[in-house]
Amino acid sequence: MSDSCIFCKTANGQIPSDFVYETKRVVVFKDINPQAPTHLLVVPKEHIETLNDLNDKDLTAELFEALKAAVKKLGISEYRTVINTGKGAGQEVFHLHIHVMAGRSFSWPAG
Ligand code: 5GP
Ligand code: ZN
Repeated sequence: MSDSCIFCKTANGQIPSDFVYETKRVVVFKDINPQAPTHLLVVPKEHIETLNDLNDKDLTAELFEALKAAVKKLGISEYRTVINTGKGAGQEVFHLHIHVMAGRSFSWPAG
């Protein structure tokens, strides 16, 4: 847990937030600045800065299982997932998160 990290505070309940889905080690909540009608963030409760720092196979599985359970709960079967890793790739919050966006069409390649 990092005292200065907004996602640590959100994931651990210090900042009130409605979780779409929660497991022992993962939370799923809505992005504050949605880029699609549905825009979720799948976030580990522990502070892991980037995907490069994720070295726990159980947690890796739990992140993707939570993602799948969250979209299933919302009745969504078509969605875009994004993990920005590093400043140059667009990462602004340095606490690992998987973006899940749905409800509009998406172009490829991503910008
Ligand atoms: P990144 O650019 O790091 O991949 O994405 C960070 C995301 O976190 C952005 O989509 C931004 O809107 C979202 N975000 C930033 N601060 C907060 C917050 O306090 N609460 C929530 N729910 N989302 C946030
Ligand atoms: Zn954090």
